[in-house]
Amino acid sequence: MYPAPFQYYRPDSLQEAIRLLTKFGDEAKVLAGGQTLLPMLKMRLGDMSHLIDIGRLPGLSHIEQKGDTIHIGALATHADIAASDVAKTIPLLSDCGGGIADKQVRNRGTIGGGLSVADPSGDWPTGLHTLDTTVVCVGPAGERKVAIADFIIDSYTADLQDGELVTEVQIKVPPANSGGAYLAFKRAAPAYPTSTAAVQLTMDGDICKDIRMALGASASKAVVCEEAENALRGQALTRENLEKAAALIVAASEPPADARGSEAFKRAMLLSIVIEAAERALARSKGEEIKGGHRYA
Ligand SMILES: Cc1cc2nc3c(=O)[nH]c(=O)nc-3n(C[C@H](O)[C@H](O)[C@H](O)COP(=O)(O)OP(=O)(O)OC[C@H]3O[C@@H](n4cnc5c(N)ncnc54)[C@H](O)[C@@H]3O)c2cc1C
Repeated sequence: MYPAPFQYYRPDSLQEAIRLLTKFGDEAKVLAGGQTLLPMLKMRLGDMSHLIDIGRLPGLSHIEQKGDTIHIGALATHADIAASDVAKTIPLLSDCGGGIADKQVRNRGTIGGGLSVADPSGDWPTGLHTLDTTVVCVGPAGERKVAIADFIIDSYTADLQDGELVTEVQIKVPPANSGGAYLAFKRAAPAYPTSTAAVQLTMDGDICKDIRMALGASASKAVVCEEAENALRGQALTRENLEKAAALIVAASEPPADARGSEAFKRAMLLSIVIEAAERALARSKGEEIKGGHRYA
């Protein structure tokens, strides 16, 4: 199907993009990598009379560490993040960005777009839940910083106010002896995942000092479970303890039965991948170089 007619704008500054977004309101859409927006446009989903292409705005593609914080510009692509030096510091970023769809999507799709869409099956919203992540938004009223857990409000709903854009994602570098992993089960590479799990932990010898876990594609937004995390803090991460905590977080999930699998299948898959993600995270916390990779049907 051909898209409905639209006006195309390519502002050369962030301020001009914000001015256009504010002027056209609900009739305007920001175009970044286009990997979600263009298919929607072709299917004529939603009112997109004014497309504001921010894809070539300067200063929004950086991936760098300043002090104890990693700064990723909203236009940094999934592929660039996966291949970056910061992904070596936080391997979960490489698992996440490097496992999204296929090369074409990863080379064009952006982290700012992936977060703004707030797709419950999207990889960044779930992966970044386990890190100390702040989303920077800029709009007519200036800059706002929002914690990831508040930014993703619900299924396909992000905390973006009128005229606002995501400009940067800030992630605190985890402390020493930390490791993380993100793992998805997918029917095929270009398909969205059926189930996803992210784990980020910090060890003190054999004892788990801190841990964050999140499940994706399992409710309207990332599933977190304090009870599961508390069950592991202060404990050795034995298989038995991981299985108990995994059962708690999976019990808190609500995976929808759909073409990707029944609820029972998804619960079994979540249980398996969250334990595997925790074991990879643990190995990485000890300095082991574990290559990331999703499971495919
Ligand atoms: C075949 C296929 C498979 C895919 N599989 C996966 C997958 O497995 N996992 C996954 O996570 N994603 C997947 N995606 C989506 C992909 O990751 C997209 O890149 C991402 O969701 C959107 O990023 P984008 O830069 O392409 O945004 P666009 O498509 O340009 O925009 C998407 C939406 O976000 C808004 N937006 C974009 N950037 C900003 C910004 N900086 N500030 C405010 N709003 C903004 C736009 O207005 C629009 O509403 C897939 C896409 C395709 C086509």
